[in-house]
Amino acid sequence: EASQIPQRFLFYKPCMSEGMADRIIMEQELHKALANHEFYIEYQPQVNLKTGKIESLEALVRWRHPTRGFVPPDVFIPIAEESGLIIPLGKWILETACYQAKSWEAQGLPQMKVAVNLSLGQLFQQDLVQMVEGILQQTGLKPHHLQLEITESMTMNIDQMTQLLHELKALGIQIAVDDFGTGYSSLSYLKDFPIDCLKIDRAFVRNIQHDPNDEALVSMILSMAKHLRFKVVAEGIEEVAQLAFLIEGGCDYIQGYLFSKPLAAEQLTETFKELHSH
Ligand code: C2E
Ligand code: CA
Ligand code: CA
Ligand code: CA
Repeated sequence: EASQIPQRFLFYKPCMSEGMADRIIMEQELHKALANHEFYIEYQPQVNLKTGKIESLEALVRWRHPTRGFVPPDVFIPIAEESGLIIPLGKWILETACYQAKSWEAQGLPQMKVAVNLSLGQLFQQDLVQMVEGILQQTGLKPHHLQLEITESMTMNIDQMTQLLHELKALGIQIAVDDFGTGYSSLSYLKDFPIDCLKIDRAFVRNIQHDPNDEALVSMILSMAKHLRFKVVAEGIEEVAQLAFLIEGGCDYIQGYLFSKPLAAEQLTETFKELHSH
C-alpha cells in the first residue's frame, strides 16, 4: 500500500544517481530478507586478559543476499534504520542471540555473556524495555548474561537516555558504550548513565605501536575507566604488540582478529566443545 512506500521513493526522478536508486532497491530487498531468512548472526569472542578465557561474545548480524552475496552491516544497518526495518530486525537479532547463548549453556558449556548492538531507532522504540524483558523471559537467559551496546553518536536527549538506560539496567542486564571516544560527545554522560563497560574503538588501537598520541589516549581511557569502575574491552586487536600494551595498561578484555574473527554459532559450538573437553 502507499503508506508502506518509503517517503523518498515518491520523489524518485530518473536523474537520481545510480547509488540512490540502488539504495532504494536495497531497502525493498531488506524488507523481504527477514521473511526469507537471509540474515544470520556471527559471534566474536571477547577474551578476559586475566584468565585467558572467552567470557563473552559480540553478536554481529550478517546478510547473505541471494544475488548480491554478502552485504556488510555497515552498508545495510543504516538503510534498515532509515526504513524502520531496524525494529523487527533488531528484535530478531536480540532473540536469536539470547536463544543461542542459552543453548550453549543448556549443552553444558560454560555460560557466556552475549553482547548485542542496539541502534538509534531501537532506543526510540516505545516498548524497548518490555521487549528486552520479554525476550529474557522467553529464552530463559539470565539478565546479567546480556550486554547491550550503545554508542556515543546516538543522539538522544540526555535525560531521556539516562532514564531509558536505568530502566534497562533495572532488568539486571549490562550496558556497554561502543566505539568509545569517537562520538564527539562530552564526557559528562559517564557519571549519569549506568554503564558497566567501555569499548575502545579500533581507531585508537590500530597504530598504538607507532603513535605516541594513540598510546596516551588509550592509557588515559584505561585509567579513567578504572577510576569509574568500568570494565574495558579493546576492539580490533590484530597484533601481539597491541596486546602487550593493553595487558600492561590493565585492560580487561580484548576482541579482535588476533584471537578470533566473528564465527558462526555452529563453528563456535565445536570450538567450545573442544576447549571444554581438555
Ligand atoms: P561494531 O559494533 O563496532 O563491531 C565491530 C566491528 O569490527 C565488526 O565489524 C567486527 O567484525 C570488526 N572487527 C572485529 N575485530 C576486528 C579486527 O581485529 N580487525 C578489523 N579490521 N575489524 C575487526 P562488522 O561485523 O562488519 O560490523 C560493522 C558495524 O556494523 C558494527 O560495528 C556495528 O556498528 C554494525 N553492526 C554489526 N552487527 C550489528 C547488529 O547486530 N546490530 C546493529 N545495530 N549494528 C550492527
Ligand atoms: Ca559493537
Ligand atoms: Ca565498536
Ligand atoms: Ca562501529
